[in-house]
Amino acid sequence: MYKGTSASAGIGIGTAVIVEEAELVIERREIADADAEIQRFKGALERTIADTERMAQDLATRVGEKEAEIMQGHMMLLSDPMLTGEIENAVRNEKVNSEIAIENVCNMYADMFASMGDELMQQRATDMRDIKTRMQKTLMGIQSVDIAALAPGSVLVAKDLTPSMTAGINPANVVGIVTELGGRTSHSAILARALEIPAVVAVTGFLSGVRDGDEVVLDGSSGDVYVNPDEETKKLFTGRQSQFMEEKKELEKYIGRPSVTKDGVRVEIVANIGKPEDVEKVLQYDGEGIGLFRTEFLFMDREAMPTEDEQFEAYKKVAEAMDGKPVIIRTLDIGGDKEIPYMGLEKDENPFLGYRAIRFCLDRKEDIYKPQLRALLRASAYGNIRIMVPLVTCIEEYRQARALVEELKGELDSKGIPYKRDIQVGIMVETAAASLIADIFAKEADFFSIGTNDLTQYTMAVDRGNKKVSYLYSTFNPAVLRSIKHIISCAREAGIMVGMCGEAASDPLMVPLLLAFGLNEFSMSASAIPRIRKLVTEYSVAELQAVADKAMSFATAAEIEQYMKEFLGC
Ligand code: PEP
Ligand code: MG
Repeated sequence: MYKGTSASAGIGIGTAVIVEEAELVIERREIADADAEIQRFKGALERTIADTERMAQDLATRVGEKEAEIMQGHMMLLSDPMLTGEIENAVRNEKVNSEIAIENVCNMYADMFASMGDELMQQRATDMRDIKTRMQKTLMGIQSVDIAALAPGSVLVAKDLTPSMTAGINPANVVGIVTELGGRTSHSAILARALEIPAVVAVTGFLSGVRDGDEVVLDGSSGDVYVNPDEETKKLFTGRQSQFMEEKKELEKYIGRPSVTKDGVRVEIVANIGKPEDVEKVLQYDGEGIGLFRTEFLFMDREAMPTEDEQFEAYKKVAEAMDGKPVIIRTLDIGGDKEIPYMGLEKDENPFLGYRAIRFCLDRKEDIYKPQLRALLRASAYGNIRIMVPLVTCIEEYRQARALVEELKGELDSKGIPYKRDIQVGIMVETAAASLIADIFAKEADFFSIGTNDLTQYTMAVDRGNKKVSYLYSTFNPAVLRSIKHIISCAREAGIMVGMCGEAASDPLMVPLLLAFGLNEFSMSASAIPRIRKLVTEYSVAELQAVADKAMSFATAAEIEQYMKEFLGC
C-alpha cells in the first residue's frame, strides 16, 4: 500500500494510465534575424493565449467560474508585458532562439516564486512552469498528451498534474487521480475536488511501483493507494465506494431543509468564503448565510492593494448573491501566516504574537482600514452585511474600530451615500484574552464568532503550523473547551448572537458539544454543510446536556475525543 495526501474525497477503482509529458529538449540556437524570431515568439504567444482562453471558457461552463480563474491567472501571466518584454529582450540581446529565451526568463521567475516559501507563491511557480512549457510546445509544434481522450475507468497517474492538464479531464472517464507531487491546496487538487474526482497527491515513489494497465484502488479521504490489490482489498473498497455514494446521496436530501434539532432548536449553518466566486458553492450547498468572508484573499496574489471601489464591488456582489441572508465580512487579517508582499511588512520575530490583523489595521487607518470600512458600509446598502473585527484582545481595539465605523457613517451621510444604518459590528473571539473578558465584550459588540483555529493556538501556546508541537494543538483540550463554553454563555447572557467559524464548527465530534453549549451559528466550508445539518437534526439539545457534562468531566483531550467517538458510534 502507498500512502499520500488526501486531495479529493471518494473511492476510485480503475486502470492506471500513466501520463508522462515527454521531456522537452530545449536547444540553444544562434539566430541571425532577431526581428523575425520575435515575430515567431509573438505568434506562438498569441496561440497559447487563445488556447488558454478556450480552456478557461470550457472550465467556466463545465466546472465553474472559480475554477476557470486558474486559467485566467495563466492568461494574466502570458499577457504580462514585463515577462514577454524580457523574453523579447533576451532574443534580441543574446541573439538566441525564443525557446531558450522563454526557458531562461520563466525559470528565473519560477525559481524566485518558489524560493519565497509560501504556498501561494509555490503555486505561482507551478503556473509559470506550466505556461513556459506550453509556449515552448507551441513553438516546436509538439502536441500535449490528450487527457480529454482517456478511456472510461482510467486512474490518471502522473508525477505532477499541471492545472492545464487537469482542466482537460473528462470526469465521466477519469475515476481517480494519483500524483507523486503536489499538495492539498495545489490548483490541480482544487480542480479535482471541483470535478468531484477522488484524488491522492504526494505519493512518494509511486511511479516506480505502477505500470500502465495495472489496477489501482485509491481512497481520496485517507490517502491510501493500492496497486493490483488482492480480492479481499478490492471487495472492501468496492463496499466503501457504494457506501460513499449512498452517503453522498443521503446528504443531498439535507439541502433545502431547516437546521433544527429534534427538540426544535434552530441554528444557522453558514459558510466560510475567501472570494466572491465562492458564493456559487455556498448556494449550491444551501448555506444559510456567510459566517466568515476572509477578505485578505482579495488582497493576496496581486501587485497592489485593491482600491476602495474594487472592494466595494466584491462585497456588494456577495451581499446581493446572498439575497438578504447574513453576510459576515471580516476586516483584513494579515500578518501571522498571511503575508502580503506589497504591504512592506517587516518580518516579526513572533508573527502570531505581533503586528497582525486589527493591530495592523488600526495603525494603518488612513490608507488601509478606512477604505475597507467605507467599502463595507457602502456595500451594506445591497444586503445584510455585518462587519467582524479579528484578533481583538482588549475592548479599546473594538471601540476604536467601532468609532471609525461611526465616523465613516457621518462622512457617507454628508455625501448622501446610502448604507445599512443599523449595521452590526461584531468580533472574532480567538484570543485567550478576549475569551477571559467575553462578558465585557458582550456588552458592546453586536455578535461573537469563535475562531477556534486561533483560540486553540493562543490558549495552548502552540503555533498552529508547527508540526513538532501539533500533538498539543487540539480543540478538545479541556482548556479550549472550557473557553468555548464560557464565551458562548457570556454571549447568551448578554443576548447577542454567537457563532463559530474555526474548523471545529464542522467537526462532527464537536457539534453535539457546541449544540449543548448553546452555539447559534456554525460556519464552515460550503461542502460540509449538508453533513453537519444532518447531524444537527439527529439530536435534541436537552439530551446533549448530559453528554456535554460528561465530556467536560474528563481531564485530557484524548479522553474527551474518545468519549465523543463512542457517543457518535465511530
Ligand atoms: C480562526 O482563527 O479560527 C479563524 C476562523 O480565522 P483564520 O483561520 O483565518 O485565522
Ligand atoms: Mg483567526
